[in-house]
Order: sequence, then C-alpha cells, then structure tokens
Amino acid sequence: MTAPFIVLEGPDGAGKTTLARLTAELLAARNLRHLDRRQIAQTSPFVTHLMEQLANMLWNSGDSRDLNDDFWAHLQASWFSAHGQHVVGPALAEGPVVVDGWFHKMSAKLAGQGWSRTDLDRLFAKVRRPDHVILLRTSPRTMWARREGTLRPTELGMHNRAYSELGEQSFLDYQQDALDRMTATAEREGWDIVDVPEDEDVNTTAARLVSLIEAVLDRSVSPRSTYTWPHLTAGLEDAVLAQMHRSLSDRDGRGVLGEFERAFADFVGTEYAVALSSGTAGLHAMCAAAGLSEGDEIIAPAYTFFATATPFAYEGVRVRFADADAHGNLDPKALPGLLTERTRAVIVTHMWGAPCDMTAIGTFCRENGLLLLEDCSHAHFARWEDQRVGTFGDMSVFSTNQKAITTGEGGVLVTDNPRFRELALLHGQYNKRCFQEIPGDQPHSAYALTGMGLKSRSTTLGAAIGLDQLAAADGIESRRRDILDRFEQALAGNPVVSLLRAPEGRGDHGLYVMGLRFDATAATCSMAEFVDRLCADGADFDIPGSTGVIADEPLFHRTDRNQPWTEVPEVEAGHFPGAEAFIGSFFKGPLWGYPGDEVSVEHQLSTLVRHANAVVR
Ligand SMILES: *Cc1c(COP(=O)(O)O)cnc(C)c1O
Repeated sequence: MTAPFIVLEGPDGAGKTTLARLTAELLAARNLRHLDRRQIAQTSPFVTHLMEQLANMLWNSGDSRDLNDDFWAHLQASWFSAHGQHVVGPALAEGPVVVDGWFHKMSAKLAGQGWSRTDLDRLFAKVRRPDHVILLRTSPRTMWARREGTLRPTELGMHNRAYSELGEQSFLDYQQDALDRMTATAEREGWDIVDVPEDEDVNTTAARLVSLIEAVLDRSVSPRSTYTWPHLTAGLEDAVLAQMHRSLSDRDGRGVLGEFERAFADFVGTEYAVALSSGTAGLHAMCAAAGLSEGDEIIAPAYTFFATATPFAYEGVRVRFADADAHGNLDPKALPGLLTERTRAVIVTHMWGAPCDMTAIGTFCRENGLLLLEDCSHAHFARWEDQRVGTFGDMSVFSTNQKAITTGEGGVLVTDNPRFRELALLHGQYNKRCFQEIPGDQPHSAYALTGMGLKSRSTTLGAAIGLDQLAAADGIESRRRDILDRFEQALAGNPVVSLLRAPEGRGDHGLYVMGLRFDATAATCSMAEFVDRLCADGADFDIPGSTGVIADEPLFHRTDRNQPWTEVPEVEAGHFPGAEAFIGSFFKGPLWGYPGDEVSVEHQLSTLVRHANAVVR
C-alpha cells in the first residue's frame, strides 16, 4: 500500500490549483506534496521540452475544431494514464500527494456528450484512481468572474457543438452541467463535497480542506489488508482483448482451447487435459468417464467443498464418507471400514492445499481394484513426496474458479488415459471436437455427434485468461512459497497458531489459501475471538463457512433421485470426530502473491504474530 493519492476536483475557476498548493504548504509537516496536474517529468531539458510540447498539444487540442472529439478523448485518457503511472505513482512511494484535478471533469464532460458509463470506464480503465476525492463547488457565476479574460476559446465553447454561442452563457451552462454531473458522481462514490462561497477568503477555504485531508492521512496510517481478486494486469487485459478479436467461441480444440489444455497438462505433468465450464462440470465428467452410476459406490471425504461429491450423487452413485486426518484430509485409516462389494472409486480432496497421503491411499486403491480420483481444486501447486498432485489419480479435476490458477469460471480434467479423455470429451464437448479427436474405431465414437446429452465447454476468453495465468505460474509459486516461509518462521515456537502445510515435510503446499491452525488448549481465548481480534485490526482472516462436513446433506441420502422433493430424507447425523476436530481448529487468510501486495502481507503477518503472542496462556 502506498500513501494516499488525493484529488481536488471541480469545474474551472473553482480554485483547485491555488488550494492544492496552499494545503500542501499547510501540511508540509505531514509530507503532503502538491503535484501540479500539468507538471511533467523534468529530468532533462530535452524531456522537459518534449513534455511541454505534448502538454501544450493536449491542453490546446480542444481548441481545434477540426480535431475529432473521440480522438481528443483518447489522447487525454492516455495522458492521465501515463501521468498516473509515471509521475503520481513514483511520488506516492515517497508520501501523500494532492493533485489539482484529475480525469473526472473530463469524464463529466464526455458524459454530457452522450458517452455511457461503460464506455467511460473503458476509456479511463488504465488511469490511476485516487484514494480520496474532494469536490470543490463554486457557483458558475463566481467561476466566470474569476476566469473571465483568461479563458481560451475552448473553455468558452467547451468543444461542445451544442453550444453555438461562445461566451458567458455557454460557459455558465457548461460549468453548471459539469458541476451537476460531478455532484452526482460525488454522491455515488462517497467523495467529500466542499461548498466554496463566493466571498470566502482562499485561506479560509484552504484551512477547511486541511482538516479534511488530515483525516484522510490519519486513516491511512493504520493499514488494512486489502486482498482483491482477481489480480488484473495489463498483460491479462491484452490477452483477453486479443482473444476477443480472434474468437469468442471455439467448436474444437484447434485454437485457444487446445492451447490452454496443452499448457495445463504440461503444468500438472499429465498426458491430457480437458477444459470445462466449471470444476463441478469437470467432476461430473469424471464421474461419467469412470462409468459410475446407480448401484455403484464411491468413498469421498466427509470434510470437503460439497462439489467434490455432489456430481456423483447427481448420477445416483452412493457416496460413503471417510473421516478426516489431522490435516483435514481423507484419512487412509478410514478406508477399509467403508469398502463394500459395490465400491468402485476413492476420491480425495487436498484440503486447503495440504496434499493427502497419496502413498497410503494409492496402495489401498491398487490392492482393491478401485479407481483413484483427485479433486485438486485447492492444490494447483501441491506435491506429495516430490510428485505433483493430480498425477496420482486415474483422473483429476482442478477448479479454475477463484483458485490459485483461474480462468474466471472453469475447470480442467487431467488424465494419462486416452479413453478417459475421450469419454470426458463426449460428456460435454459434442460434435466437431468429438469427431476430430475420438478415433472412429472406438465404439464410443458412435456418440460423437450428440455427445451424451450435456454441454460444458470452456469459453475461449476463460482459456485466454488461463494461458496468461499459466505463463505467470512460476512467479506466483515462488512468491507464495516465500510468503508461507516467512509466516512459518515468524510463528515458529508459538504454541497457539501454526501454519497448515504438507504433513511432516512430505510434500509441498498447494498455495490456494493460507491455512492456519489454532490450539485453544494453549490459548487464553477461543479461535472465534482470536479471528475477531485480527479482523478488528484490519487483517483479513476468517473461519470457513460453506466448507464443512458434507456427509449429512440430504442430497446424499435421497431415495428417489428424480423426485427427491417428494420424500426429503431424515438424515441421522454422521460421526466424524477427525473432521470436527480439524474444523474446530482451522481458520484461513488469503495467500497473496502479486507485486504490490507487500504492505498487505506485512500487515497480515505483523497483526497475526502480535495477537498470536498475546494469547499464549
Ligand atoms: C471450487 C471447488 C470445486 C468446484 O469448482 P467450481 O469451479 O466452482 O465448480 C470443487 N471442489 C473443491 C474442493 C473446490 O474448492
């Protein structure tokens, strides 16, 4: 987090420049700097000259009647974007900045010319947004009195062909319109509004601004963790735009879908990947490709996000639930007791990024002739004993929703088995793709045209996002591992709070979220109280809500899967002490991993460590 970027906004003649200069002088002790909106990098005479020329061109370009309005708008937006990035940005690293007017007046003007909110958002998408805006409201008559005689023709006519008469009235109309629009924006966006009476001395106005700005500076002193998802970069935007121009929907895998699938398979280390519309759709395809249906049983974790098991229930497969081990993962010791003659598969979830004991679970599956399936949605970067998760199972699914690698909405099924891949294609990618990619000598190729009745194809834009993410994967991984290491070191020796990682160093964490354990027996307060204290200090931690013991959900106990509502089953509560113990001692926080997150990470870390040390019994 950088220092606050404060903007004085208002129509022409509201006194923005004078007031910004005065407030910066009055708040010099707090390091506030006034950056003249027209101040350009003055690194060398050449740059100064070049930038002056450019500034003149920009500021006067509106005077030229033969310059197209849109062209002028784009030029201005580029200027604000460059200034925000290269002048304001670096200045904010040094301390708080106040600027005399930003793009809002321009935006109000374009809105007056009929630009929509969406088009304006797009035009100014790359312009740095201020942290705080103060709207100075002066009556247009006052502004006219102050500016008359110094106005350029544009300011008189305001480049708006609706004003045929240049002069006082067009100025007043234009300024009133801009003021009304900016007032509406101020009310919507929560800006401060400062009315400046005609006869008020400028020093008095400045003194009023100083107290407002001081409050902004005070607030920014106590930092908050500001985790945002998704992390948008210029590269990602370019990738999506380029894909939009290429194709918005692909019927086969020859374009971006195939490219994304190959990149994802390489990322995991499997032969094949199939991209789908969601992780849930991927799990459904996995169930279908495994050939599971009514009469079959699978063993699934009692503690997981429900979509690990719901697609199986949808197909009428009976789900038997295994309790959790100390890491919240399916406990291999629970497996023998759940095995029946009808068991066909075991599905595991690497919960919150900690890999399951794939050695024990794999052995159990092999010895009993069961398929091994993995839900890797929390574990894009996880390894068990140096082997990537997702490569143990006969098939594995990675949700790419709000997970460590995202496509917006989406999921990817990976496998080394060509038959499973073809069956997964049949499940939701009918017609062209199936004709091209399922060999005609396979009996199931008969379904290539129709598929099996469902469609769950990925969007091309999702695939483009995914490709951009995978290209950045190494950076995401190393950054997040470093953060986990720092937290682990800082918490070392604290008996109450510890990091959830791979068991006893037998692998690597999946880097989805930062999982934490709380030992209430060593603490002077409960976990809920502890998390409340962290949040009260602006840190971002929570006790997960929608992920819990899923075994007792009525969906898994229906008697008629086609009309379950006619007879909602009474479910007897299952007994899962391992899962309950884990849930009672688990909380989590976001795991950052992008440039610019450093201050938030530091704030999370220092808040967590301070409170963890304070609650030791
Ligand atoms: C997110 C998630 C899913 C579901 O994925 P969607 O893409 O949201 O359909 C399934 N399992 C687990 C463990 C998840 O976290």
